[in-house]
Amino acid sequence: MSAYRDGDKVVVMLPSRLSKAEEEQWIATILQRLADRERRRRPSDADLEARAHELSRRHLGGRAVPASVRWVDNQRTRWGSCTPDDGTIRLSTRLRGMPSWVVDYVLIHELAHLLVPGHGADFWELVGRYPKTERARGYLEGVAAAAHLPMETGAADEDDLRHGVAG
Ligand SMILES: [Zn+2]
Repeated sequence: MSAYRDGDKVVVMLPSRLSKAEEEQWIATILQRLADRERRRRPSDADLEARAHELSRRHLGGRAVPASVRWVDNQRTRWGSCTPDDGTIRLSTRLRGMPSWVVDYVLIHELAHLLVPGHGADFWELVGRYPKTERARGYLEGVAAAAHLPMETGAADEDDLRHGVAG
């Protein structure tokens, strides 16, 4: 028994011996599981904001307090950005569907920028408190390289942040 998404459709494969009623029951169950899984992998703005606060508490002593955290789909060359002046953080919708520890890394990165601008040693010391930082950076570099995204040639780092510049 298996299911996968094909564009707008979900293709469910079931053994042919099932009765019509069993079939319908299985399809309902499978669709529910798929929806649950996708919801977990595609957090909403509210989920993202709650997660950011949790990460700040856990790794940054709660010192980074974002005013808002949301998804944006107009960031073609950045995974995330923040505007320290008003405390807003934006994450590229390209990250949606990636493992949660990768999204967490981008959140930690942007949260750390609320405390330290630029990418100096003090910045990386903060970000390094999140244990999967190195692994997540490698993951994002791999994604960028595979997709031939402009990120791959980014000089400084994976999010190519121009701090204080929204968008
Ligand atoms: Zn940065």
